[in-house]
Formats: sequence, structure tokens, C-alpha cells
Amino acid sequence: MAARAARLLRLRCPECGRESDVHVTPDTLGAAAASPTGLVGVADYHGDHVMVVYVDGEGRDRGVRVFRALQRGEVVRANPTYLAYMSNIAGFRVASGGWSLEGFAGSPRALLRVLGGGGALEVELRDLARAPQAAAWGERFLEALSRVGQPDLSGLLLSILLLDASMQHPPSPFASRMFELALNVRRLTLRVDPDSADLLSAYAHRVPWLSPRVLEFARRVDGWPLLRVVAAPDPLTMRERMATLLSLERRGVVRFEVTEP
Ligand SMILES: [Zn+2]
Repeated sequence: MAARAARLLRLRCPECGRESDVHVTPDTLGAAAASPTGLVGVADYHGDHVMVVYVDGEGRDRGVRVFRALQRGEVVRANPTYLAYMSNIAGFRVASGGWSLEGFAGSPRALLRVLGGGGALEVELRDLARAPQAAAWGERFLEALSRVGQPDLSGLLLSILLLDASMQHPPSPFASRMFELALNVRRLTLRVDPDSADLLSAYAHRVPWLSPRVLEFARRVDGWPLLRVVAAPDPLTMRERMATLLSLERRGVVRFEVTEP
């Protein structure tokens, strides 16, 4: 059999109009040929939404759509450009509830595998020294995933970026909550309680992580979709924003309201 050749598809996103180059690797073509539907989705992360192009085993474009929730039986691969955002994770696979999402630049050398809550996470690390912490954070991620159910693809890709940005440190007790918010990111709107914010600013000078800037920021983003609040060009900044919001949530300053997009 002839080797399957990589292809590049240039497509316009129906949501934001951005032209995206989607890399269809030989692995992707193989996955399409092996999948029950004969198709595989390739996900291009656009921050607040994800464009997915479906390709068949010959690499033909079989439709583009902006993706909401993962369905049973769905096989999706991240466009390799997504991996460039991350510094610790070289490749990954998440599978749960009959769907799977993965992103690898080539054949992974060694995979760290974490199981929990009916889901599985496999991670290829750039540095194996990170393995114990990657596994601990991975467990929190799977805990959150089992509570959320069928996740949104934007939330899932955001969670992998947060996982990447988190593994320098051992997981905090709020790790699972962070992933739960991230996995639900498209459904959540931030609400700020002005009285609690006033109260907190009164003793802000005694709280080490808190600066007047943080409270100003919280007041400014009242009513914003969570995705807009955490959106940043790099995973470390996104993680920092999530950590700040979690701290403010614990002090009753912010809460997250479910509003379907
Ligand atoms: Zn787009």
C-alpha cells in the first residue's frame, strides 16, 4: 500500500473568518480510515471557539464547522499548531464517554497514562522529570471531566493548556475546580458581588496575593463570559487569571453563572 502523504488544507473559519492552515498528517489519514464513520475531525483552536474540519482517509475536506460539544463516537485531532502553545506537553490524548481528542506532532516516544472517572489521559512530556506532577494534575483534570460529562471542545483544549501551565508545581486543593470551570468555559458568565469586593478591598493590604489591581480587574469584567476573562496569548497568563478568579470565588467576590452560549 502506498504511504499516505500529509496534506495542508487552507480553510476559512465560518465563525471569525480567519484563514487557517490545517495540517492533515499521515497519522490523521490513518485514523480517518480506521474510524467507524471513515472521518476524523481536525480541530483548530481559535481561542473562544474551535473550527473543526472533517477529513476522510484520502485527506479530502468533508465539511467544516464550528464545534460545540463532543459527541459519542467522535474522533478529533488537534491541528499540530496548537501544540506550539505548550512548553511541557509535547502531545496528548484524552478519551472519555465514547469520544477521543488527541494531538501529537509525530509518533510519541513515551506516554504517561492517567486513568480516572471513566476517562483516560495520555501525555507525552518534553521532560520526564515532570511526570509525577503531570500525573497528579492529570488526576484532577479527569475528576473534573467526570463531573462535567460531554465537554465542549474549547473547554477541553483550554484545560490541556492549563494542565501544561500548571505542572511546574504540585496541584493545589482547587485544581479540580479550575478544570471544572475551564471545561465549562463556554457556558459560564462571571458575576461580581460589589459589597464583597468593597469589603475585600478594605483589607486588601493584608492579603498577600491581592492587590488593588486585582479588584479593579474583577469589577471591570463583571458580566463578561468567562472565556473572555481568561483569554490570553499564553497558557501561563491564562492559568494566573484562573487562579485569581478561584481565590476571589472563595472569598465570595465572584461567582460563575451558567448561561448557555
Ligand atoms: Zn474561527
